[in-house]
Amino acid sequence: MNKFEIRETKGKGKGAFAVCDIKAGEKITEFTGDVVDRKTIHERILNGEERIDDPLQIGDDEFMDIDNEAYFFNHSCEPNAGIRGIADLVAIKDIKTGDEITFDYSTTVGTNINNWQMQCLCGTPNCRKIIANVSSIPSVQIEKYRKANGLQDYILKQLDR
Ligand SMILES: [Zn+2]
Repeated sequence: MNKFEIRETKGKGKGAFAVCDIKAGEKITEFTGDVVDRKTIHERILNGEERIDDPLQIGDDEFMDIDNEAYFFNHSCEPNAGIRGIADLVAIKDIKTGDEITFDYSTTVGTNINNWQMQCLCGTPNCRKIIANVSSIPSVQIEKYRKANGLQDYILKQLDR
């Protein structure tokens, strides 16, 4: 059963909302799509086939051109979900029916990507305003994500290097 549905948010375009209660640690969905290297994804962005904020990094030099509804999850600086393993979206806290499901985009941008940033409109008290790669996340926040098992394998490797 699908645990979320896509609908309009207030002011952030489309977003994904829980259609059932989801417990912390539970898998919500997984990202799928073509996996290509950095050079190829860069070419797709230059050709206008892909927007710069859209690919999901899944390895030092591996990017997923997302082709499923997981594309619609918005960023938050205080998210209730994270990405685990390669590309599984999991709850990092209990989520109630009707809550918007978000993850921290910075957790999926490796330390080797230095040319990406995005203005954040999440409006949470700890909003970072401008978000960039994983090393731009305050260490207390990273530790929260780590404890909740909400960091991808390649990010954990990069952080422990
Ligand atoms: Zn924010």
